[in-house]
Formats: sequence, C-alpha cells, structure tokens
Amino acid sequence: MSKVTDQVAAELDPEPAPLLQVEHLSIDLPGPAGPVRVVDDVSFTVAAGRTTGLIGESGSGKTMTASAIIGLPPPGAAVTGRLLWHGDDMVTMAEQDRRRLRGRGIAMIFQDPQAALDPTQTIGRQVGEILRRGGMPAKEVRRTVIDLLDRVGIPDPQTRHAQYPHQYSGGLRQRAMVATALAGSPELILADEPTTALDVTVQARILALLRRVRDEEDTAMLLVSHDLRVMAHVADEVVVMYAGRICEVGSGREVLNSPAHPYTRALVVSVPAVRSRTAIAEPLPGSPASPAERPSGCPFHPRCAKAQDRCASEVPRMRQVAAGRQVACHFPEET
Ligand code: SF4
Repeated sequence: MSKVTDQVAAELDPEPAPLLQVEHLSIDLPGPAGPVRVVDDVSFTVAAGRTTGLIGESGSGKTMTASAIIGLPPPGAAVTGRLLWHGDDMVTMAEQDRRRLRGRGIAMIFQDPQAALDPTQTIGRQVGEILRRGGMPAKEVRRTVIDLLDRVGIPDPQTRHAQYPHQYSGGLRQRAMVATALAGSPELILADEPTTALDVTVQARILALLRRVRDEEDTAMLLVSHDLRVMAHVADEVVVMYAGRICEVGSGREVLNSPAHPYTRALVVSVPAVRSRTAIAEPLPGSPASPAERPSGCPFHPRCAKAQDRCASEVPRMRQVAAGRQVACHFPEET
C-alpha cells in the first residue's frame, strides 16, 4: 500500500485512543512467609468504545488487576506501576479524585447483583443515586431512571422502578446493575464475571445486553471472566492471564480462533462451544499455579505439553508474533 493510501486508510479507520493504560502493574499481598506477588508486571490498554476481556482461571490475577483499576485493592496490598486514565496516573491520584472517577468515569458491574444491591432501597432509588448526588431534580431523576430501566430491557419500568431487589429475578437484578452503571454515563464499565451467577439462558440475554451497551452507548468495557464463551460473544480484544502474568494479548476473534500460547490453546480446547460445535472438549491438565508457589521459568511449564528444558529456567518475555498480537512463550503456536 502506498504512503498516501495508508494515510487515507488511517483517517477512515483511526486507532481508538487508549482510555486506560495499565503499565507494569504489580500487586503484592502480605503472606505468612512475606509478600506474595499476585499480579506481576501486567501491561495492556483499553481503548474508548471497545471491549477488552481479561481472562484466566482462578488465581490468574485478573480480578486483582480489576480491583486495582477500580481503586479498591484488598487491604494491605502494595500496588506498583501505572494506571493511566486519560493520561493521569490513578495509582498516585488523591482518594477524592479517585472517588469522583468511580461511577462517573468508571462504573462497576459485579458478579452477584444480589450482594451488590441494597435490599432496603427500591431499585429506582439505587439506580438514581448517582443522578441525585449530581444535583438532578427529583422529577428528572425519576424520568431518567425509568428510561434507563427500559433501555436495559426491564419490562414495565414504571412499576418496576418502585420495587425492591427481592422482587426481581436474578437476570433482572443484573439488568438493574447495568442500568446503575449506565446512570453515571461512564466511559468505562468494569464487569467482573457478570454472568457467572446466572443460568445459561439468562447469561445469553445479559451478554446480548452488554453487546448492545457497547454498540449503542459507545461505552468501553473491561470484562473479567474465566469463561471463554463469554469472551467469544463480547470481547474485541483479549488479555489472557496465568499465575499473575499476561501470556497472550490480541484481538478476541484471532486469539480464540487461533491461540498462539499453549495455555490459551488448552483453554480453548477445554470448551467445546468455543472450539467448534462438534469437537470434543479436552480438559485442562493439572491445576492452576498458585502465585505463592509460582513455578520457575514459564509458570505454565508443569502443565504444558510443549515444554522444553528452557521453559523451566527462563521466564518467557512478551513478544510480537503478528500485528496486534503478543505472546509470552518460547515456542508459540503458528498463528
Ligand atoms: Fe509451554 Fe514453554 Fe511456552 Fe511456557 S514457554 S507455554 S512451557 S512452550
């Protein structure tokens, strides 16, 4: 392609600007034998209007990474590195500014809406909380909340807005959480396992809703999940984590269709619906590595079918294997 054609293509389809840049994020938690590194030198970006999926088994560090981004790491956690929000470092930001950012800039959808919602307050009151705090008059809050409940697919929002969480089903409660998140018109929604507590049919509906939110509201999303099927439905980009480190980054479609890291590949073939409708699932061998006893070299080596001597002694560094595709493996798969 000529230089001029390149320039025209870039103008027609410009790279979305990074909203959030996670740079060399590490998190240490206090342990009986000293600090335990649960997140180790993690870097990735979330672009405006895009959905980035953070995926891994339990203990991979994905939820810990999310908790640092939202500014609520566990007590005693030591967070280092940079979390740049529009270029401002949230790690060193004053707590008052971070609080302002939560809800307005970054909103959160939790795994268990039952626990996240206040049982003593109506759904309408909870969804409208951020609007009232922003000084919106009561009548307008009511109208906006009803509109939000309607937008997230809650039927009869005029009646439903005056009901309490126990009067909602699990799926409707999660929709109410999405409405609460949208109320602050956030630029980024951080969704932590948003469908795990729901049954399969309801999961599909919530995923369709999240896709609609991404497309219609132009809100970026950081989706944390252990479930590859969830990622396959929603994620534009995928960050795969193992034992507190990133092992693969790339476009959701490419990573899930042709994984380059043996761990990603093992994850993909362990889920038949992701691999193909007819393929038989191959369970992941062994158990996830504990960050407290992270194996030497590549932490996946005790479970990896491709492991060689070098893998047990030398930590694989991230390297580019294709455009927009990075892998931390000494012997990546062909992409
Ligand atoms: Fe497997 Fe070695 Fe690659 Fe680790 S570095 S994933 S052990 S081949």
